Amino acid sequence: MLINMTDQDVQDIIDQIKTVRTVNELQELKSKYLGKQGALTVAMKKIREVSPDKRKDLGRKLNLYKQRIEEAVEDQRNALIEEERERREAAHRYDVTMPGARREVGALHIISQVQEEVQEIFLGMGFELAVGPEMETSYYNFEALNTPEWHPSRDMHDTFYLSNGKLLRTHTSTVQIRVMEKRKPPLAIFSPGRCYRKDTPDATHLPMFYQVEVLHVDKNVSVAHLKGTLEILAKRLFGQDREIRLRPSYFPFTEPSFEVFVSCGICHSTGCRSCGGTGWLEILGAGMVHPNVFRSVGYDPDEWSGFALGMGLERVIMLKYDLEDIRELMRNDRRFIKEFRGVVL
Ligand SMILES: [Zn+2]
Repeated sequence: MLINMTDQDVQDIIDQIKTVRTVNELQELKSKYLGKQGALTVAMKKIREVSPDKRKDLGRKLNLYKQRIEEAVEDQRNALIEEERERREAAHRYDVTMPGARREVGALHIISQVQEEVQEIFLGMGFELAVGPEMETSYYNFEALNTPEWHPSRDMHDTFYLSNGKLLRTHTSTVQIRVMEKRKPPLAIFSPGRCYRKDTPDATHLPMFYQVEVLHVDKNVSVAHLKGTLEILAKRLFGQDREIRLRPSYFPFTEPSFEVFVSCGICHSTGCRSCGGTGWLEILGAGMVHPNVFRSVGYDPDEWSGFALGMGLERVIMLKYDLEDIRELMRNDRRFIKEFRGVVL
């Protein structure tokens, strides 16, 4: 910087200062002009080399330049600090109109919820929980349950047969046999689990579904015990005002066999659209254990008697919540699943 610097030179320096983006760069620029070896400092030192008559004006001029540059540096420093403050504030600013980050709480699927509900009911009546494999042999699924080769339920169209010679159980009744083979009566068990049938999915069928099997074996067990158990089950599941009705039916593994109905909760058995005008809704199949089933596990049918029932959990859910399409339970649509969050638990 020459001693004869002009207003324009100073303005150029100030413009340069205004383009600086960081405090460090600003500091460098300040040193360049105002530091000990800075251009302006050096220029001011040279004043004494000038003739005395010009010294005063030149000194005043350079002082004024120095002052202007110092002010520009200070202004730019403040501007940079303010910018930084705003930047930080913006990064931490709350936008009250933004949707919150909602933390969703998980819940059991409605099938699991109802399974637990049923479980509580039977545990409360003194039944034990028992489980069995989903891949079964034909013996446990059919023969031991008095279902001979010619029976329609053994049709290839109903059962998933596997390449290893086994099959996917078509009902949870298999667990009856597995438990009775290992234990002597009296016994009272219930067994929830998945079952499989070659059904094309429609509003009332799924190829995979949930059942709960119940078995009670003791001396002198009668239909009255079955009916008492069913009544408690129906009232606990559907409400104290609900009643049950048995209608004779046929299953190979029970004799006599019954279809069990519960009174319609909407019309209270007077008949409405929901129950097809009958006043009653079918909930499960039940009956007294067939003597041949006892024989297959080595129980003496003259000494022991028992009842068994098998209930579809999806059916219970459909009746309980007036669900029209069973496929909804497996569609994994979160809007549907969330409807049942915390219904039972
Ligand atoms: Zn009804």
